[in-house]
Amino acid sequence: MVTRCIDDDILTVLWTPEQLRHRLCDLASEITNDFSSPDSSSPVIVGVATGAFLFLADLVRNIKLPLTVDFVRAESYGSGTVSSGAPKISCDVKLDVAGKHVILVEDIVDTGNTVFRLISYLEAKGATSVSVCTLLDKPARRTVKFELLGDGKFYSGFECPDAFVVGYGLDFNEMYRNLPYIGVLKPEIHNRV
Ligand code: 5GP
Ligand code: MG
Ligand code: MG
Repeated sequence: MVTRCIDDDILTVLWTPEQLRHRLCDLASEITNDFSSPDSSSPVIVGVATGAFLFLADLVRNIKLPLTVDFVRAESYGSGTVSSGAPKISCDVKLDVAGKHVILVEDIVDTGNTVFRLISYLEAKGATSVSVCTLLDKPARRTVKFELLGDGKFYSGFECPDAFVVGYGLDFNEMYRNLPYIGVLKPEIHNRV
């Protein structure tokens, strides 16, 4: 019997599960320190679905603070590998973020469009501050400069090369999210679409 293995579609692994775990533990410690003052209210962690789901799940387990968790959905990619520009918010947050410190959790900041859009969306909802915690940052492709709200901070796990990456939540056509590592797809997989 011939079985199809998901790993066969990957050209190179950029970050192993161990590297991801180490780095996200560092980020969780930084967040714990930054939000631990006794007069600061519990932060609201807002994950950007679907890509941030694994990162968020592992991150929050390592933040030693009382907090709440919610998700928002912003669509910009369609089915290809090139961003379609202005993202739509297709699923609202459920929690009231007014007067709260929000930490937006993203899989990757690429052009900056999504984060830019979400910061103004959370500002309009009355958030006191908006921080961004992204696992990957791809500064080479940035076209939109965004400003964090209030005394919000920017937390970034790794600088990503200018390549389309998948795994650990990140997809290509909704596939490959379940890879435990992050890697680059073989070009023939892109070309199939
Ligand atoms: P931006 O709005 O910053 O251009 O991109 C935001 C979204 O595009 C990310 O949250 C992610 O879902 C998707 N994206 C950007 N670069 C990549 C990439 O290299 N791989 C994957 N799988 N998604 C990406
Ligand atoms: Mg995302
Ligand atoms: Mg995607």
